[in-house]
Amino acid sequence: MTLTLKLHSNYEVRLRLIAARERVERFRGWGNYELVVKYDGRSFWVSVYFKRSVRIVEPRTVMAIDLNFDNVTLAVFALSGRLLKLKRFKTPHRKLLTHRMWIERIQGRYPRSWRFIRGIRRAIERHGEKIRNISWGYAHKLGDSIAELALRYRSAVVLEDLEKLRENGKRGREFNKRLGLWFYRRVQFCVEYEARERGLEVVKVNPRGTSSRCPRCGGRLFEDGHRALSCKKCGFVGDRDVIATINIYRRYVSRYPRCGVPGVAPNAPEPDEIPSGMRGERG
Ligand SMILES: [Zn+2]
Repeated sequence: MTLTLKLHSNYEVRLRLIAARERVERFRGWGNYELVVKYDGRSFWVSVYFKRSVRIVEPRTVMAIDLNFDNVTLAVFALSGRLLKLKRFKTPHRKLLTHRMWIERIQGRYPRSWRFIRGIRRAIERHGEKIRNISWGYAHKLGDSIAELALRYRSAVVLEDLEKLRENGKRGREFNKRLGLWFYRRVQFCVEYEARERGLEVVKVNPRGTSSRCPRCGGRLFEDGHRALSCKKCGFVGDRDVIATINIYRRYVSRYPRCGVPGVAPNAPEPDEIPSGMRGERG
């Protein structure tokens, strides 16, 4: 596919489009917004931006999304706190780590020379390409299915603010050590993009303590068997990923109390009331 740019004084430039056809087709009917031209000393690169106005969907439910090493957990809550839907997606982390390990192994074997030997550099690039393809492919697919679900429930989509993870001690370290924040950023980027395209509200909340604090009393949580956490103070027990989504949901509700919004019962529980249906929920 080629892109024809009609410039001033009848100049015309034809450019080869390197984006996939489906990606270009997506923007049919959108408004042209702007072009960004970059010259890297050898060639010109042109990015085309499209713009479209979307009608904002008034949220009726809240979808809290918790990103973990091996899964993405989402929970849809009614504004009353009732859990409407719980869903888990596997992440491709193990596959990504395998390619990363290969890269490190090759670099370790040729610590000084890998940059300069073509064959070795190519091998490393191939693993890098695999990582890129797997992670973008996953992020696009996940973003699409999450946004579709959120639209069905007319949810406000709530994510953890990854920028704040760094300052957040253990959980921040966990994210960084195991794969790096880039993967989570990529996933969030796609979720946010797809959700906004559908007119859904997207909010980021501080992730501090979302997976270590009791959603009922705020006490410290302790490991209680496989994937479960419990609170010694109030006896609350729950699945660790589900607990995180409750905390994310609550953080959103306390930041954006929606008094008088259609669909909220006048006697809706206080935001710090525990969503029902959580106790003993596993798997
Ligand atoms: Zn508690």
